[in-house]
Amino acid sequence: MNDTARAFRDLYGQPSHGVWAAPGRVNLIGEHTDYNDGFALPFALPHRTEVAAAPRSDTLLRLHSAASDSGVITLDLATLDPAHRPRGADGWAAYPAGVAWALREAGLPVGGADLHIRSDVPTGAGLSSSAALEVATGLALTELYGLTPTRPELAALARRAENAYVGVPCGIMDQTASACATEGHVLRLDTRGPRHDHVPFDCAAAGLRLLVIDTRVKHDLADGAYAERRASCHRAAARLGLPALRDLPFEELDGALGRLDDPVARRRVRHVVTENERVLRVGELLGAGRLRETGALLTEGHASLRDDYAVSCPELDLAVTTANAAGAYGARMTGGGFGGSALALIDAEAEPAVARAVTDAFARAGHVPPRITPVTPSAGAGRVV
Ligand code: ADP
Ligand code: MG
Repeated sequence: MNDTARAFRDLYGQPSHGVWAAPGRVNLIGEHTDYNDGFALPFALPHRTEVAAAPRSDTLLRLHSAASDSGVITLDLATLDPAHRPRGADGWAAYPAGVAWALREAGLPVGGADLHIRSDVPTGAGLSSSAALEVATGLALTELYGLTPTRPELAALARRAENAYVGVPCGIMDQTASACATEGHVLRLDTRGPRHDHVPFDCAAAGLRLLVIDTRVKHDLADGAYAERRASCHRAAARLGLPALRDLPFEELDGALGRLDDPVARRRVRHVVTENERVLRVGELLGAGRLRETGALLTEGHASLRDDYAVSCPELDLAVTTANAAGAYGARMTGGGFGGSALALIDAEAEPAVARAVTDAFARAGHVPPRITPVTPSAGAGRVV
């Protein structure tokens, strides 16, 4: 019995029927591409969310998270409706409740269940604790009831929960990474389809390390800017007569920019098209075992997000420039921006020097101390016990 199962038994007074886990993710590259039908290269973190669960004979869903002091929240599956979310489902409970709702909507007849949730994925750090929670819940509920959606189906249902029930207009990347990633690989995602394959990325064997630098800030701009960038991309695609910006080939970028008169739209389009190209090139380099050479593309990606897409912030820029000055092969913000985390590709032995340089730079700038964690591409969701 693991700690999550033990906590379940202490809480509900009976043993759980299993424990399921799903990881957070970081995106190696391919930012703000998923709502443009584009490409991304996320991988699963070693950090994960565990859900211990047992079925019930009624339609109640009882939810408890070690991360919340809200106690046990009880909802009735039979009455879940995104238009009339019950009070208890307004906060964090909307994520697991939304998953149960999406599964049932899709004709997967999950019944009542007791759930206890425990996670070491930092929340709100751009590492997708929300997808980890959704996918772990979805796996727990479906396996409790003997249902077997494929992993991409599970990811799509988790995304539907977040879009339609929680009300966050995210793309498919986070849930796909959490549900489908494999250890030692990045997931090469074509969000049109969606389709994916796995590209080896064994940092340790190459003497490399990936550092996640959590800036621990989240600027208020994030939600509004996300909606604005999304709308601006969709407008530009329509203006260019394309279904999505994904349909603008890199070779035709300059010509297309000449057909857009709004300078801001031109910058947004340039980011999306060059970013898709960078994802494809990084994927090829990884496939060829040329890991260090990806660094320059990571840094180029950051410059594009900072200058063309305008979603970076001083803390992220400082993390990136400092890591690079301290010897990183490359670094970039990862996630939606305006805070959250940056990622740096470094030689394994450079970790103390890079971590110290970034921590010192943050202190000198008067920022909150960053949280710096080495990460390795880890396994996607699965049953733990
Ligand atoms: P991110 O996915 O980048 O961590 P989000 O804002 O998308 O940030 O999701 C964070 C939210 O997900 C939290 O505010 C909380 O509502 C919910 N959440 C994530 N993990 C947990 C958990 N272990 N327990 C309860 N709620 C969680
Ligand atoms: Mg999230």
